[in-house]
Amino acid sequence: MGTAEPHVASSAATQLTDGFQLVIDALKLNGIDILFALPGIPITDLTRRAQAEGLRVLSFRHEQNAGYAASIAGFLTQKPGICLTVSAPGFLNGMNALAHATTNCFPMILISGSSEREIVDLQQGDYEELDQLAIAKPLAKAAYRVLHAEDIGIGIARAIRAACSGRPGGVYLDLPAKLFAQAIDAEAGKRTLIKVVDPAPKQIPAPEAVKRALDLLRSAKKPLIILGKGAAYAQADAEIKNLIEKTGIPYLPMSMAKGLLPDTHEQCASAARSFVLPAADVVMLIGARLNWLLSHGKGKTWGGKSAKDWGGQRFIQIDISPQEADSNVRIDAPVVGDIGSCVSAMLASLGGWQKPPADWLNAISEKKKANVAKMAETLAKNPTPMNFHSALAVVRDLIKANPDAILVNEGANALDFTRSIVDMYKPRKRIDVGTWGIMGVGMGYCVAAAVVTKQPVIAVEGDSAFGFSGMEVETLCRYNLPVCIVVMNNNGVYKGTDQDPTGRDPAPTVFVKGARYDKIIEAFGGVGVNATTPAELRKAMEEALRSKKPTLINAVIDETAGTESGRITSLNPSAAKKK
Ligand code: ADP
Ligand code: MG
Repeated sequence: MGTAEPHVASSAATQLTDGFQLVIDALKLNGIDILFALPGIPITDLTRRAQAEGLRVLSFRHEQNAGYAASIAGFLTQKPGICLTVSAPGFLNGMNALAHATTNCFPMILISGSSEREIVDLQQGDYEELDQLAIAKPLAKAAYRVLHAEDIGIGIARAIRAACSGRPGGVYLDLPAKLFAQAIDAEAGKRTLIKVVDPAPKQIPAPEAVKRALDLLRSAKKPLIILGKGAAYAQADAEIKNLIEKTGIPYLPMSMAKGLLPDTHEQCASAARSFVLPAADVVMLIGARLNWLLSHGKGKTWGGKSAKDWGGQRFIQIDISPQEADSNVRIDAPVVGDIGSCVSAMLASLGGWQKPPADWLNAISEKKKANVAKMAETLAKNPTPMNFHSALAVVRDLIKANPDAILVNEGANALDFTRSIVDMYKPRKRIDVGTWGIMGVGMGYCVAAAVVTKQPVIAVEGDSAFGFSGMEVETLCRYNLPVCIVVMNNNGVYKGTDQDPTGRDPAPTVFVKGARYDKIIEAFGGVGVNATTPAELRKAMEEALRSKKPTLINAVIDETAGTESGRITSLNPSAAKKK
């Protein structure tokens, strides 16, 4: 600015900023460079102006998919994924994903525009009236509303801290329509912005907790380590590998921890899972919760005599949340802190470590050998029609040849079979249905994974699962993302053979027979392929990876091939009854 006529110049040049601009500036200041959005009143201009200012604005067809994209971007990058929606219905659609982020411990911020407070609070019937903040609270790790432009910087800073620090989670930020147009002095506005320093501070474990854990681990005759997606999230890959290899303890990766060490690692006990869980005497959990996915740490899976019976294992649990221990069974040695710091502290105190007893390691390796041989036999078959196994043998080879590709996976049988058949070789390459075991994450995950990792993406989708987010193939085509979707089409949910006993309608679990999902992507300029044999599937997947073009392969699977509820039959009263 000129100095010749300071007084006149400054008053004439008083620059104003507004709510829109301050939101954009606050996000940019904190290194946020992508918005997963669905424009509409009152945030349309926010998406336009954000794009004009250089942020990447990825526009979706349904807020739930934008939300899932944001949630997994958070998991992959440790930066909160931002989802931007309109009020009431858009907000509610986004809430599903925000609850998912909270449940899965992914950092995410759902920013929704909202209607006029005075009218909402008096319930006078505004356009898209809804008390969004109140609704978000029980499902989010934190929820905030900003009423004044001067508070936008604080609002965004608090949201970032809440999403990333400690146990990560979903945060809701309510921005009423009126806020965006509020104009304030630009210089003063700038001073209100906050660049968050150290959003996820290290949490160093207490030395006595580390010692207690190591003493217990050292006493074990049959030790086992379980790696969860918290361990994958922590990006402490080298330390974790080091701890596992230095101790020589066999480990089991949970689904999204697969590849943290290659699934082909000699200490990986995945192929002997049902042997090691009941047999282990000391189990160390690293970023994994003893929830339903681990049968709550008790019951027959763990060698207990009945469903609620403790199998006698003693547990060490490394977790950032001090409240996690004792949630399902007694934890003898909780180690509270971030995984990087906890694992480093353990490594530093290992001393001269004796590998676990040879009889334990040999027993595991024998079980593995037998199960791997059995699986190889199944995979080598080439039945007509193609089944899950013969199709997934192809995916398995392609991931092996392309270990940097991200594997998105959802469905029932399509999920269970893929998880056990397709080996992963690198950390954070497998993203799936997560803690709730939900359907619908597929295409949102594909968009986010392709954009934030810049790697090719392969999605293995049940035909039912694909339906939840299928319209986003338009999004994949619009942004020309290197995503290859394989729809495992067995004509229905679980399988395609159910009948309506009255003969009136198709059974509730059955879809249009012989549907051609590949045609959907062709409508938007993507590549569609119908594959009825493993050879056709292989050719189409190889071509997709080579061309990097958005591709959807309709993999025709034997409609009798699935099982009810995949591997969670025990949770489905109708399947349990049929047994
Ligand atoms: P999985 O489903 O793979 O078993 P969970 O989602 O059940 O994994 O568990 C993840 C755990 O990891 C949660 O208890 C969470 O508190 C913890 N966690 C997440 N991030 C970190 C971190 N950086 N350091 C320590 N623990 C973490
Ligand atoms: Mg199906």
